[in-house]
Amino acid sequence: MPIRNGAAYLAALKDGRRIHLDGRRVADVTADPAYRGTVASFARLYDFQAAPENRDLMTFETPTGARVNRAWHLPQSPDDLVRRRRAIEAWSALNFGWLGRSPDHLATALSGLMMGHDVMAQHDARRAAAFRNYFAYARDRDLFVTYVIQNPQADKSKSASSQARDLVLHAVDEDADGITVSGAKMLGTSSVMADEIFVGNIQPLKAGEGAYALSFAMPMATPGIVLLSRRSYEAGVTTAWDYPLSSRFDENDAVVVFDQVKVPWERVFVHGDVDAARTQWHGTPTHVYQNYQSQIRLAVKLRFLVGLARRIAEVNGSAGMPQIEGTLARLAVEASIVEGMVAGMEAAGRRFGPYWVPSAHLLYAAQTYTQELYPRFVNTIRDLAGGGVIMLPSSLRDLEDPEIRALVEATQVSSATDAVGRVGVMKLAWDALGSEFASRHVQYEMFYAGAPYVNHANMNRTYDWAGATAFADAALALSPRPDWPARAAAE
Ligand SMILES: Cc1cc2nc3c(=O)[nH]c(=O)nc-3n(C[C@H](O)[C@H](O)[C@H](O)COP(=O)(O)OP(=O)(O)OC[C@H]3O[C@@H](n4cnc5c(N)ncnc54)[C@H](O)[C@@H]3O)c2cc1C
Repeated sequence: MPIRNGAAYLAALKDGRRIHLDGRRVADVTADPAYRGTVASFARLYDFQAAPENRDLMTFETPTGARVNRAWHLPQSPDDLVRRRRAIEAWSALNFGWLGRSPDHLATALSGLMMGHDVMAQHDARRAAAFRNYFAYARDRDLFVTYVIQNPQADKSKSASSQARDLVLHAVDEDADGITVSGAKMLGTSSVMADEIFVGNIQPLKAGEGAYALSFAMPMATPGIVLLSRRSYEAGVTTAWDYPLSSRFDENDAVVVFDQVKVPWERVFVHGDVDAARTQWHGTPTHVYQNYQSQIRLAVKLRFLVGLARRIAEVNGSAGMPQIEGTLARLAVEASIVEGMVAGMEAAGRRFGPYWVPSAHLLYAAQTYTQELYPRFVNTIRDLAGGGVIMLPSSLRDLEDPEIRALVEATQVSSATDAVGRVGVMKLAWDALGSEFASRHVQYEMFYAGAPYVNHANMNRTYDWAGATAFADAALALSPRPDWPARAAAE
């Protein structure tokens, strides 16, 4: 089979999937103004990997002879992991880190779960075998899989089974062919434009909530799967020049509703086992791998934002001012810390059977650090930009009119560039920092891997507390403990 390219990806999207947007049903995501620019960006990723000059950087040969993206590779050494990271970085660079749920995210998560096959087989050998077969199926076709593993936000004080009836996805029936599921999940990023959806449960379940302990994967056009798309920021742009990011990288997010969906047994990986539902994330390398991919992507995005910050300062003639130099340096430091964390995760990884897994505690440290860092980072660059991101012509159309363009040229002034250059930088800045697309990205980086208390729990679970407290205890032991006779005995 040839390396999957953009044309093959686009052809597969014309499958009759059910997407609702603005009161209408979307007929074709590849052509719809709400999605087509972003779909084209995903197609470009596949074209990039299929280009002969990128073959070795981006792909490897699977045991079955297919040539697919390196994100499906199961690394056995730090060098393998770094080779894999280079491919993730190269794809991220094509979208400057703005596509969070590109196909390499789930390929990485599913690779982690594959590495944990033996752990999952201890829970249920047949379900683990079903996943092993699915993994080979999805890998060899280089499928774009996304996931929903979170329950719809409703009443946080209640567990899954105590929410409004049928709100949360659960198994309603089973027979010789498989299971039937109903209910909803949030928040299917890229689900509108992916091939398949992996469905799981990552939130704690109580004993007796086995119906919610599920994991399976299905094609997006499966009867009964309904995607309730959020507003399209791509559709809201005036021109791509005015919104260079929204128009190309609006990966969308959707509430995914399952209405009596039949899932055959060969697609069911966890069923009815509360412990297995949790183990698939934290008892295998899955969760560490998926979030390691996210940190690689985020490091690329931060590098882009540092570059943008510098251009903003140059356009404003402030780049040489000592305070601004300090601000730029501070941004570069923070972006470098994230790059260093990624390299650290690889070097300080551990063996898991034959596989090499990034360091969990460095991953969760990066995860916690970056969910706090991102809004601060964006705010710092907004501070650099001042009113320039608002002092802008309404759209490219103004510049196309010679009379208005003359006025724009007279009022958009910079020592570093001409009027069009200034407007271009500031339009890009607004799309990255202040547009609705940008605001969604702040929410994404703060929440895609769980609320802060979830990351804190993962940090506490994986940190070497015994080693740290042993240091404190050793320091306490430097001086012998005073040994006064007990007061009562002395009296
Ligand atoms: C843009 C975006 C894209 C996403 N994409 C996906 C996706 O593709 N797939 C997917 O499965 N999920 C996705 N998610 C969902 C994401 O996993 C959840 O948003 C995240 O896990 C947080 O859950 P929540 O939204 O219910 O927020 P909550 O858990 O309700 O958190 C909101 C606030 O309440 C606080 N809080 C809530 N409960 C507690 C508690 N018990 N103790 C202390 N504080 C608490 C939190 O700390 C936080 O400050 C996405 C989210 C966003 C924003």
